[in-house]
Amino acid sequence: MRSYQNYINGEWVDSLSKDKIQVEDPSTTNIIGEISCAKNADVDLAVEAAKNSFKSRILVDMPILERAKLMRRIAEETRKISKEGGNILCYENGKSMAAAVKEFNDVADMFEYYAGLTDKLEGKTIPVSNSVLDYTVLEPYGVSAHIIPWNYPLAMLGRSAACSFATGNSTVIKTAELTPLSATFFAKAVENAGVPPGLINIICGYGNEAGAYLASHPDVNHIVFTGSVVTGKKILHMAADKAIPAIVELGGKSAGIVYPDANLDDVVESARHAIFGVAGQICTAMSRLVVHKTVKDELITKLVDLSKSLKVGPGYEEGSELTPVISNNQLEKVEGYARSGVQAGAEAVHGGKRVDRPGYFMEATVLNNVKQNMTVAREEIFGPVLSVLEYQDIDEAIDIANDTNYGLGGGVFTKDLNKAAWTASKLEAGQVYVNKWFTGSHATPFGGYKQSGYSREKGIQALNSYLQIKNVGISLV
Ligand code: ADP
Repeated sequence: MRSYQNYINGEWVDSLSKDKIQVEDPSTTNIIGEISCAKNADVDLAVEAAKNSFKSRILVDMPILERAKLMRRIAEETRKISKEGGNILCYENGKSMAAAVKEFNDVADMFEYYAGLTDKLEGKTIPVSNSVLDYTVLEPYGVSAHIIPWNYPLAMLGRSAACSFATGNSTVIKTAELTPLSATFFAKAVENAGVPPGLINIICGYGNEAGAYLASHPDVNHIVFTGSVVTGKKILHMAADKAIPAIVELGGKSAGIVYPDANLDDVVESARHAIFGVAGQICTAMSRLVVHKTVKDELITKLVDLSKSLKVGPGYEEGSELTPVISNNQLEKVEGYARSGVQAGAEAVHGGKRVDRPGYFMEATVLNNVKQNMTVAREEIFGPVLSVLEYQDIDEAIDIANDTNYGLGGGVFTKDLNKAAWTASKLEAGQVYVNKWFTGSHATPFGGYKQSGYSREKGIQALNSYLQIKNVGISLV
């Protein structure tokens, strides 16, 4: 069994306590590796390294095209390591090999994309009077702490680390305790690219220890968090205590509205990826379908056919489509939700329980006749459980879709693009997908309305959240 280390100040180090976190393959429950478990003293070292690198101004004063070149080298090294890193990501997270390798390439895309924006972070001149030259400069915050979830350990890390680097911040990344191994391959890419020590530090520790200590650390100037609403609110309190900015991307309960004229096969393909892919552990999962009553029976038949056809298996087995959820806790939670739906009167037309095999596999579950007041329609399940609700007129469908504390994603299925645009304008969600879930890219802004969080990741706008504006006024007389 391989042992992994933290990457602090350009060096591979064990935690001072020598404690380890063991990492499981959720497909078999076998232990596949262990990593040094960072505690407060290790967090101190990582923050100190970041602080010193920021104070040295090595990134801030680097000629801007050099910064871009360095980012492109990180991208290149990340691509080189994508197969090896993707392999370990596939084992520790459970997702398919192809999806795991893609995540590394997504990180590379992020670094390339933001590399191209480093020299476009322009300030303004502002007319004040003829005797004053007034201008703005965009400056980094300093030490930016990133707390990463386990469902997309690399993609989430990549989008924030690339933005943070492009804007000149020094970064401390705390990976999730359930999936920390793959990020060490990204750290290797950072090392191979020749990034000066301290600019990117990657540690793993438990959320309520290293995570909480990092977020409340007095030398952290900026926080990025992706994860649950409960933890996100704690992070926001910690940021508020220090009056520092926090970018938070939290959960979702996203609904797709299916018009009577929809191509139902489009809906089914979206279900394949957006609720059964990655075992539904997706913050923008298509977890609810609000379906016109004239097409609901036909759609249910198609969804059941899809669910039956999905090949259950570990991500590293060719052709696996329904891979495991991350842990036994998660499996119990997801199974409990499915059970509660049935107890409340929904019908499990497919699935509803764990798969009878080793590992943490949950059946592809389709719940019909879900009502908006049921827990399965209101809470984020984070598993392969799709709730189907019925509507008669479109205003009712929009009310159902918006009747949630969340506002991350939403969808519309119709052949009429006028209706699609009208419906998109009514949905309270940070991203709306029409006829195909997940149409976005590294360049499209991503984030939530309501309790799904605020600020945006990805795209040009994200840079604003990593920069502060300095206004300079020069008296010319
Ligand atoms: P989940 O409950 O699904 O694991 P979390 O939102 O708790 O989701 O976890 C996302 C990330 O937040 C992980 O890296 C985890 O270690 C971290 N985390 C969990 N609790 C805390 C906390 N109290 N303070 C800071 N980080 C935390």
